[in-house]
Amino acid sequence: MSQKNNSSQTGKILLVLCPYWTPLIPPLGISCLKSYLGGHGYDVKTVDINIIRQFSDLKNEYFQTLQSAVPEDCRGNFLNIGNDVLRNHMMAHLHSKGEKDYSRLINIIVQKTFYNPIDASQVVRLDDVIRRFFAALETYLLRLLEEEKPALFGVSVYKGTLPASLFAFKLVKQHFPHITTVMGGGIFADQLNVDSPDFSGFLEQTPYIDTCIIGEGELLFLKLLRRELPPHKKAYSLPDIEGETVDLSLIGDPDFSDLNVRYYPNLASFGSRSCPFQCGFCSETVQWGRFRKRPVDQIVNDTITQYRKYNRQLFLMGDSLLNPVASVLSQEYINRGTVIYWDGYLRADREVCDPDTTLLWRRGGFYRARLGLESGSPRVLAAMGKKVSVEQIKSALHSLANAGIKTTTYWVIGYPGETEDDFMQTLALIDALKNDIYEAECNPFNYFPTGQVNSSRWEKENKALYLYPPEAKDALIVSTWTLDCEPSRQETYRRVRHFVKHCRREGIPNPYSMAEINQADQRWQKLHKNAVPPLVNFVANETAVDECRNIKKIIMAQHNEKEDKSFVF
Ligand code: SF4
Repeated sequence: MSQKNNSSQTGKILLVLCPYWTPLIPPLGISCLKSYLGGHGYDVKTVDINIIRQFSDLKNEYFQTLQSAVPEDCRGNFLNIGNDVLRNHMMAHLHSKGEKDYSRLINIIVQKTFYNPIDASQVVRLDDVIRRFFAALETYLLRLLEEEKPALFGVSVYKGTLPASLFAFKLVKQHFPHITTVMGGGIFADQLNVDSPDFSGFLEQTPYIDTCIIGEGELLFLKLLRRELPPHKKAYSLPDIEGETVDLSLIGDPDFSDLNVRYYPNLASFGSRSCPFQCGFCSETVQWGRFRKRPVDQIVNDTITQYRKYNRQLFLMGDSLLNPVASVLSQEYINRGTVIYWDGYLRADREVCDPDTTLLWRRGGFYRARLGLESGSPRVLAAMGKKVSVEQIKSALHSLANAGIKTTTYWVIGYPGETEDDFMQTLALIDALKNDIYEAECNPFNYFPTGQVNSSRWEKENKALYLYPPEAKDALIVSTWTLDCEPSRQETYRRVRHFVKHCRREGIPNPYSMAEINQADQRWQKLHKNAVPPLVNFVANETAVDECRNIKKIIMAQHNEKEDKSFVF
């Protein structure tokens, strides 16, 4: 079927990412869909509302207001966990009915994260920001729909974007009932997993959504447009197409042509989908199905094309895990003599402990490793099924830092069964490794009744409880759960606060603003001779940064560094 025929039959497809999602990269999901469906002759437009200043300003205002209501001692990693408060507040604002119960619910939402009450006037101030947010979103969306006149309105939905996405779907159906509404996105991997207690209720509570696409979207979306899916269903997932996943060599490069890429600090690409591992708390394999790699020349061609088109060097790879592709990708970048720098998610596997491997990666442009290290306790690591030892963590961080690659480390606090002693082991490990850590960020453990690898095991061993009052379920639509086990949620959040204070005291950064990133970069430059160039060099420089192939091997002999002159490159 020709391109013209396909778009004339279906009309325009508008794919949107709603606030709030941190716009570090142009959205890969809807950009891959644009590329794939466009390649099959469909007319697709993508929009990321997160880059519109008015909405980021309102988020900042909400966080400033919340910050003034929460004493400093109770904040923990405020800019991270505050997102839960914002999301639940938005949901309650959209769906609550009683004024008094609503105010009480907002107070509970704040308390269950910061464990400190706020007063009624503070709720009013927070609510005023939320009210203005939805008013602005309505104005924006109505104008967008008038301009684009889509026949299909699709939204890729994640935890943080759920309230605004539901608002958008409802608005579309109210004003343009003829437009087909389609929901996809990562939320169906965890919070709204098909087997979750909330899933069927969600389908009933959202009559304004015509179709849900669950899991990898390309094939399901294409078959939906071609009317090849079984009729009379609202939700379609991989079993509806016999588990068929897309061949990554056939889906084309992500298409960012509708997006203002200058807004994002990184461009984006990917080398694989899913993950060959099965960590107990993770839902990546649930979302993407079997692990697949993209041909390396395709990845490199994609990033070089983007570099030439947008004159930007920094990429964030969207892979769940870079380990399986990092070496082959580095070698290809070295062979081609490119000036592409890239960062992404990594496990502390044995190969990462090899200084020759990390040196290869550094020379191939690997800029920052985002490492899910999770815990310093061997007992907790084993319970998670991480298949990584504490010794490996030490060695991997040392090897990466020695090559100069920034190490952003993620730690899970309050994993079921984590004791105070386990937690202290995590802090002790961070202290011991602090010079090899560029950045330390912690996340409180989150439990979902389905979607995580260990969900059903936890449910059998412990009682799952609603975090918020059961009567708030209809207002919040998606439940937040806790497990009735040690550590409690309150204790977990106490440990989060302890973690943040501890890292601050030890001078281990967790930068959010550009000024904080500059400071963290200066620290990294002082600590490591091979440190990657500071971020500011990529932002400010007229000419391309081009240094990675000149990096020399440093032999680390306990506090005694010397260059290995024998290594010629
Ligand atoms: S946590 Fe990382 S390594 Fe583990 S399953 Fe998820 S993506 Fe894979």
